[in-house]
Amino acid sequence: MTVLRVLTTPDQTLRTKSRNLSVAEINSEEVKTLINDIYETLRAGEYGVGMSAIQVGQPLAVTVVMIHPTPNRPELTNFNKVYLNPKIIETFGEKEPMWEGCCSVLDENANPVYAKVPRYTKIRVEYHDKAGKKHRNLADGFLAHVLQHEIDHNNGILFTDLVDVRNIISQEEYRKLNKIITH
Ligand SMILES: [Zn+2]
Repeated sequence: MTVLRVLTTPDQTLRTKSRNLSVAEINSEEVKTLINDIYETLRAGEYGVGMSAIQVGQPLAVTVVMIHPTPNRPELTNFNKVYLNPKIIETFGEKEPMWEGCCSVLDENANPVYAKVPRYTKIRVEYHDKAGKKHRNLADGFLAHVLQHEIDHNNGILFTDLVDVRNIISQEEYRKLNKIITH
């Protein structure tokens, strides 16, 4: 397995709309290798809880979720799942502002930036699994949040597109703010 280079802004490849995979492609060695390499790339970073193929330069609708406790979110529990051709087919309730960052959106010091992004707290997502089987699952809480961020990547959208630029803060500010909230 290989740790891949993660593209960062302003690389225009991140703006590419990824295409869906056929079941034959899902079963190909190339896609299996890509999934394993994305897992390895996520493991190499401390913060990432999800990554889509376009972030490593492949315009394919491949999203890997690897939720685990991070320095910013120590309360998380482990959850690994691959979503191929993921699509939101239903949303529930209103959007709520949720903090997020992205390993493809860094400041001039190569640190992630953060902002509160309006996201649904519950969605229904359609996707293919690694064996090519189609599923329709409910996702809520943090998983729903991560999936909306990743499905945006598959459509060439970054979280910073969805917020007022004045509300984007540095990692240092985010940590300070987080302390205020948690103490
Ligand atoms: Zn991201």
